[in-house]
Amino acid sequence: MELAFLWDMAQHWVSHFKTDLFRYLLAATVMSLCVSLLFRGWMNRRRLQTRRAKWQDIRREFSYSMLTLGVFATVGLVTSVLRDWGLIKLYWHWNEFPLWWNLASLPAVILIHDAYFYWCHRAMHHPKLFKHFHRVHHLSRTPTPWAAYSFSIGEGVLMAIYSPLILMLLPLHVLVWLAFIFVMIFRNTMLHAGCEFHPRGWVDGPLDILTTTTHHDLHHQRFQGNYGFYFTWWDRWMGTEFKNYKQVFRQAVDGEFSDSATAGEKSPAAT
Ligand SMILES: [Zn+2]
Ligand SMILES: [Zn+2]
Repeated sequence: MELAFLWDMAQHWVSHFKTDLFRYLLAATVMSLCVSLLFRGWMNRRRLQTRRAKWQDIRREFSYSMLTLGVFATVGLVTSVLRDWGLIKLYWHWNEFPLWWNLASLPAVILIHDAYFYWCHRAMHHPKLFKHFHRVHHLSRTPTPWAAYSFSIGEGVLMAIYSPLILMLLPLHVLVWLAFIFVMIFRNTMLHAGCEFHPRGWVDGPLDILTTTTHHDLHHQRFQGNYGFYFTWWDRWMGTEFKNYKQVFRQAVDGEFSDSATAGEKSPAAT
């Protein structure tokens, strides 16, 4: 009986691992192909750093991401147990909740995740926590899409527990939850892509509330600022956005970092 239970748990764990692995591989592969193959010329002109990630950087990012997927699978297993106890509020039929909630729940879960990420991220930059929680992610000075889950165990747990917490708090349709997971992983890999995807006018219009690859790449270069994930507003409210973020964005889309002779070790905030 006990063995059967353990076997069942192990199968569930493997199933969670495989599902998250599939999403990670899909998003990181698509993003890597965009950067290095499909739009290679365009992306090369929009590089954010003259330094290039080495194979050992990508290997390290991938290895730590596998460790994180193990953490995610373990938290996924806990979430399954919570669901069995009736504490998880996922629902399957749209008519179980009003239309307005079916429409509003995806923006709500993203907005809450954005606040959760910003404050967890800032906390992990506290000198007492950085080494244990966040140092591994910052080993990537020139991140690649494979850095999306390159976390130490502590950071992996902090990132993973958002799922059971929000699923216990808010009723969410299964498809809304899946959409959120896909938005999250694709956005995550895009922020680490090393090339700017957004059009030139992005930072001068209303869409400037959304972060860009430049925004997060600057965080990897300089550490103390640009902590946000989806939106720029927490950094602006808290005064943690790098002063010359928009200037660096424009320089990147104008190809100023694409020539290795010009940028070198130039600090984006030094200008
Ligand atoms: Zn990062
Ligand atoms: Zn950080």
